Amino acid sequence: MDPINPDMITLTMEKKKSIALIAHDSKKPELIDWCKEHHDILKKHFLCGTGTTARMISEHVDLPVKGYNSGPLGGDQQVGAKIVEGRIDMVIFFSDPLMAQPHDPDVKALLRIAQVYDIPMANNRASADFFISSKFMNETYDRTIINFHKNIKDRSETLLDE
Ligand code: PGA
Repeated sequence: MDPINPDMITLTMEKKKSIALIAHDSKKPELIDWCKEHHDILKKHFLCGTGTTARMISEHVDLPVKGYNSGPLGGDQQVGAKIVEGRIDMVIFFSDPLMAQPHDPDVKALLRIAQVYDIPMANNRASADFFISSKFMNETYDRTIINFHKNIKDRSETLLDE
């Protein structure tokens, strides 16, 4: 719990980060290239990603990437669920701003849940470059998020009174 504000809690990211990698189809070559460029840093962290992205990075870059379902089949939602569970620290998502995606609602949901849980989420190469060169990649980092236990307690105790 935050000693000043009980409505918030602090969660600590470890030095070894859990990083989710996602790229829309037109951006997959760029993400693979970015992973090659930052291979030496990325290899110190745990990597996961949506199915096709994860598989292509594993095949083309010498890095293990745990794959979830493909994005259009729910992979982005799996990444979101793992953020809620506190199992993902960062998202690198090279999205395509020029092409409509069938799973656009899932992408929006992932963006929203990353905001709620104060998770750094890079949506293009420049932001990903800034993230990967941050001093916090080699340190622990405290995130402050809504105290979910207190939130449920408060809501369950007050919603019938309204
Ligand atoms: P994919 O999914 O890695 O399975 O292609 C990415 C996405 O489109 O969200």
